[in-house]
Amino acid sequence: MHEFSAALSIVETAVQAAKENNVSKVKAVNVEVGEFTFLVPEQLEFNFEIASRNSVVEGAKLQITKKKGALKCDDCGFEGESQVDTDIPSQIAVFSPMKCPKCKGSSTEIIGGKEFIITNILAEVTPA
Ligand SMILES: [Zn+2]
Repeated sequence: MHEFSAALSIVETAVQAAKENNVSKVKAVNVEVGEFTFLVPEQLEFNFEIASRNSVVEGAKLQITKKKGALKCDDCGFEGESQVDTDIPSQIAVFSPMKCPKCKGSSTEIIGGKEFIITNILAEVTPA
């Protein structure tokens, strides 16, 4: 359950942030999800809903922004965004070897896109 542990960690971070900022209700959580996390947004939303039950985050909307992965090539020195092979359906391309967009070699290393980060949290603050 890859998505569930990711969702749980998002909820935990949001709950912690809510506590620190006297928040009574979290309205939305915005996250950036890297390409190489292989997280499925729909699954993440679904698990977020379950993980947030009975917390200040319950009912909040999870807004996901997809972020391109980044590769570094040992053959030609290319460093930059990965490119999905458009000849292959996207659900298969995800698992294909990560080819260098420049020299088409496969001596690549993932240097970005393996993370997911919370960019901001929209919340209601308890009146003092
Ligand atoms: Zn290369």
